[in-house]
Amino acid sequence: MSIPFTQLDKLYIAGQWVAVRDTEAVLNPATEAVIGHAPLGDHSSADAAIDAARQAFDRGPWPQLSTFERAGYLRRLHAELVTERDAIAALIIAEVGCSQGVTYGMQVDMPLRHVLTAIDQSLSDQPRPIATQTAVNPFNPGGPLLLGSGSIEREPIGVVAGITGYNFPFLLNLAKIFPALLAGNTLVLKPSPFTPYSALLFGQLAERIGLPAGVLNIVTGGPQVGAMLSTDPRVDMVSFTGSEAVGISIMSQASATLKRVHLELGGKSALIVRADADIQTAGMAAVGGLTVNAGQGCALLTRFVVHESIRSAFIQTAQAIASQIKIGDPSDPTVMMGPLIRESQRAKVQGFIDRGRDSGATLVCGGGRPAHLSQGYFSDITLFDDVRNDMEIAQEEIFGPVGVTIGFDTDEEALSIANDSRFGLNGGVYTADAAVGLDMARRIRAGSVYLNGGGGQMPYAPIGGYKRSGIGREFGPDWLKEFTQEKSIIYPIGR
Ligand code: NAD
Repeated sequence: MSIPFTQLDKLYIAGQWVAVRDTEAVLNPATEAVIGHAPLGDHSSADAAIDAARQAFDRGPWPQLSTFERAGYLRRLHAELVTERDAIAALIIAEVGCSQGVTYGMQVDMPLRHVLTAIDQSLSDQPRPIATQTAVNPFNPGGPLLLGSGSIEREPIGVVAGITGYNFPFLLNLAKIFPALLAGNTLVLKPSPFTPYSALLFGQLAERIGLPAGVLNIVTGGPQVGAMLSTDPRVDMVSFTGSEAVGISIMSQASATLKRVHLELGGKSALIVRADADIQTAGMAAVGGLTVNAGQGCALLTRFVVHESIRSAFIQTAQAIASQIKIGDPSDPTVMMGPLIRESQRAKVQGFIDRGRDSGATLVCGGGRPAHLSQGYFSDITLFDDVRNDMEIAQEEIFGPVGVTIGFDTDEEALSIANDSRFGLNGGVYTADAAVGLDMARRIRAGSVYLNGGGGQMPYAPIGGYKRSGIGREFGPDWLKEFTQEKSIIYPIGR
């Protein structure tokens, strides 16, 4: 059976489907089968895409359209995406290897809800008046005072390059396309080479809604294409979601032309479990969270900071929960955790596990490939105990289903362990004392913290990093600000 959208064999540039010389096989990570041969972008296609985006910004109608008109296009795009929900999910299951529950819940439905808030924001963003003021006329200091006022308006930045990672490809691409376009920018989108179809599908739907040519351009390819997008002087801004290492490269690549840089990077987030916490609930959160997309999630809470008095009960509970999670090919709806994206990622995760064992941490369960799965890039749920926070497995983003447990005695110690990380993307606290939990949440140096599992109005919660987890915010009430700049227009209103 052919997987939806894998027939897309050209790049989407200037409103046209453009053939390219090279293609790249795209693999289903659960079966290692080739699901399609995607077009592989290169220097010349990136050049054409930047040119198209530049023309569409400088000469096209897009930035001059009213916010209402732009919102109309994006609403129609949203409606098409909703119509294609099952096809998009089927693609993600095959292209990412993500379980069906997580695919529908977090990869597809959640971002489709979130982007509606961006549409609302774009419509409510009105110029703000500058208060009327009097001032001395510098050319006639003794004469009558000047009376002046003005307005502060938000304008698009220009041509945006959106460069994204593989783990939540539809969500990450959506989170570039909607705010960038609603704010009046034009975009060149470059997805991960592992997940090209989750980007190219947007070309098909953009065409269906008649999006003006050049407003959205999609170029596939690897680091060379990404490097070109982040160095080219015709690009005004890079919005990047990916690893810390590539974020550092992008910042330096973008520096020569002083582009605006928006970075959503990795994490090593701590889950603090206090002595008064419900161990079963905390264990479910720890292991359930860890297995989302096989641990390939930026904000997953993979460092369990657990009070010494309950540490062994927590570990036993976590191990029991881990043993109940069905791992396998996510085309089976009962599978709860799929594979890692490629053999290279599986080997990287295995390296962390092996070195973790060598460094003296206790391997509680997992530690390798699940015995019943010889094909596909699978890694078992792996839990470590007796971990010190200075160990590599406690400091590095493993990006696999590996959780480490570190003991603590006092709340101060728990906070200091949680904050002893160069990352600061997310955090969590489990406690029966909500007031203490809130105080601790405030003291965790991270862009978000889940207290007792969180809940509430997620589309209105911004996400983003402290420290080396990034610069800027995605989602939330000020989402569109990332993709706009302020202009003050000052005028006289009397003499
Ligand atoms: P990656 O950094 O390896 O690749 C991301 C993108 O950057 C890809 O499209 C890649 O081709 C491109 N790229 C690589 N080198 C480049 C260069 N020199 N210049 C420009 N572009 C270049 O990331 P990945 O492995 O695909 O994704 C996983 C990472 O993304 C993890 O670290 C994860 O934490 C992070 N992530 C962060 C968030 C967030 O919101 N903070 C969300 C999802 C993923």
